[in-house]
Amino acid sequence: MQRTIISVKNLQKSYGTFEAVKGISFDVFEGEIFGLLGPNGAGKSTTLEIIETLRDKTSGEVIVDGLNLDTAADDIKKIIGVQLQTSGFYPGLTLLELIQLFAGLYNRPVQPMELLHLVNLEDKAKNKYKELSGGQKQRFSIATTLINQPKIVFLDEPTTGLDPQARRSLWELIKSIRSKGTTVIITTHYMDEAEQLCDRIAILDEGKIIALASPDQLIDDLVATGFERPRQVKSANLEDVFIQLTGKEIREE
Ligand code: ADP
Ligand code: MG
Repeated sequence: MQRTIISVKNLQKSYGTFEAVKGISFDVFEGEIFGLLGPNGAGKSTTLEIIETLRDKTSGEVIVDGLNLDTAADDIKKIIGVQLQTSGFYPGLTLLELIQLFAGLYNRPVQPMELLHLVNLEDKAKNKYKELSGGQKQRFSIATTLINQPKIVFLDEPTTGLDPQARRSLWELIKSIRSKGTTVIITTHYMDEAEQLCDRIAILDEGKIIALASPDQLIDDLVATGFERPRQVKSANLEDVFIQLTGKEIREE
């Protein structure tokens, strides 16, 4: 039996008269990768930022690892890792300096090189943040979410805009975070990525959850309705061609 680490009940968020999140309920299990999918404007970021304590909710209940958001937001902050938008880093500081800065903020001792090793950026330790490629910036921002050894990591569209190699390298990183027992909540617009990574998925549309299950179950449910995808005549696709031609190693420079 899985332990629930995040419980959201009847969460509702209005911006003025506009209701962005319309009373959603879901549980996230400890140690899983939970995907929040949905078209732009569905309410994914709003939902995540409320759980991350960065945005106020209008109503509903959020419990994170037994802590109630209404009364223990500061305690919740200590056990979560939130990925900053890449613009949130001082561009002129080196990766080592940035890690020290964050460690100071969290008041936690860190092993900067160990952390950089985890995200495969050891050789960039003394480079300035602004000298990193897009994929490296994303990997570095994920590294910073791990500084306070969180129980839960939140990643909002971490692979948007990356090339196929950098995307795959992030998948491996995210899986390695899960393999250490950390719960991951991720949003993405890439369905192949969600299928690869997520143990369970909630699909959000116009502020409501319209489906919640494992990727396999969601696909089986669709097939059971009689849906059939036009026959695939080729056993590879263009992404396979690209990866075959350009190799799996990430290249950022
Ligand atoms: P998603 O992340 O799924 O794309 P968001 O949670 O960012 O969606 O936004 C959900 C809806 O709420 C959108 O219609 C968006 O325009 C609106 N919204 C988000 N933030 C604000 C805000 N600060 N003020 C007013 N409306 C907002
Ligand atoms: Mg968003």
